[in-house]
Amino acid sequence: MTDTAEQAAQATAAKVIIGAVRETAAGERRVALTPETCKKLVAAGATVRIERGLGSGAHAADAAYADAGAEVHDSADAVLGSADIVVCVQPPPAAAIATMKSGAVLVGMLQPQGDAARGEAIQARGIVAFPLERLPRTTRAQAMDILSSQAGMAGYKAMLIAAQLAPKFFPMLTTAAGTIRPSKVLVIGAGVAGLQAIATAKRLGAQVEGFDVRPETREQIESLGGKFLDLGVSAAGEGGYARQLTDEERALQQQRLADHLKNVDVIVATAAVPGRPAPKIVSAAMVAGMKPGSVIVDLAAETGGNCELTRPGEIVMHDGVTVSGPLNLASSGAMHASDMFARNVFNFVSLLLDKQGALRFDWNDELLAKTVWPERAAG
Ligand code: NAD
Repeated sequence: MTDTAEQAAQATAAKVIIGAVRETAAGERRVALTPETCKKLVAAGATVRIERGLGSGAHAADAAYADAGAEVHDSADAVLGSADIVVCVQPPPAAAIATMKSGAVLVGMLQPQGDAARGEAIQARGIVAFPLERLPRTTRAQAMDILSSQAGMAGYKAMLIAAQLAPKFFPMLTTAAGTIRPSKVLVIGAGVAGLQAIATAKRLGAQVEGFDVRPETREQIESLGGKFLDLGVSAAGEGGYARQLTDEERALQQQRLADHLKNVDVIVATAAVPGRPAPKIVSAAMVAGMKPGSVIVDLAAETGGNCELTRPGEIVMHDGVTVSGPLNLASSGAMHASDMFARNVFNFVSLLLDKQGALRFDWNDELLAKTVWPERAAG
């Protein structure tokens, strides 16, 4: 072989293979790789392999991936068994992880501790897993933050569901048939999802209030045209998240909230404390005190719900109050949710590629070191 041919062969050998297969979780329509990010990865020097039909849930055709430079395969196993980096939305089943190349990289929402078989499969195959939900929420990580990008879609959809279920207009109307007062909407929890829900309710013309235990949310709620509901409880915790409330704080919050809810038409609840079941904020007694025709959409249904009466995945009626506990709302906006998720994944995967598009791990980079699972031993 000539020197140039040898160099070319080495470059080909070093080319990283990035793979994505169809999501298998029930109802999951999103994808972690879009034609847009596929094109960028190919431009960065990677080979991209996908399973046929990868993007069907998000309306991304195989032809669009092929045009973006992907190899389209019929077999998921062929993709999983050859990829150096596998990207996904939901955690792959243990069997799929067992098909991956030993020592390969897995990037997505992986919840490795959520399922013993999954965690064991990751460890048994020596997979270098990057559960993106573990990413530190620093300024630099914002472009990779799947929790934020997906929460934005979930908050938006939750408010639209509330508007749809409500037997009322959201905006004020002055008509020949008289004046309609605007709906009073309360958003509980003003994190990323809650703020998007507030913005959406404002656009629909409702009178919007928000409350949160982190005091800095007051300014954020007000900047969206909402009113901050001050229940006199502040519980800022570590890393910008809320901490769990003490029993006294919780009792005070409950008592003031119960009175307030008697005049609220719609609640969208989004309160969460990382790693814990959702805080129970709206009790059955509070729901009983609400006006008939009121609506509660509980975005926290997935982790148990903020309302005592929420049944995950169901819509139930209690004394004329509709309580909805939708699941995986981000998937219902699969096109834009995938666009954002895939860009988050692309930005993270870029940290794993050198200038030639080969795989490298810079463990001095805290975004890698703090995200990887299992955690690396110090030193
Ligand atoms: P989250 O989903 O963990 O929680 C949602 C909201 O519920 C939070 O605002 C929390 O304070 C609130 N909450 C918890 N317990 C409550 C209770 N008992 N009553 C009322 N509200 C309660 O939060 P999130 O949306 O993922 O974001 C959390 C924080 O992280 C926010 O400050 C957000 O701005 C910040 N963040 C920072 C970055 C970054 O800088 N890279 C990125 C994303 C989010």
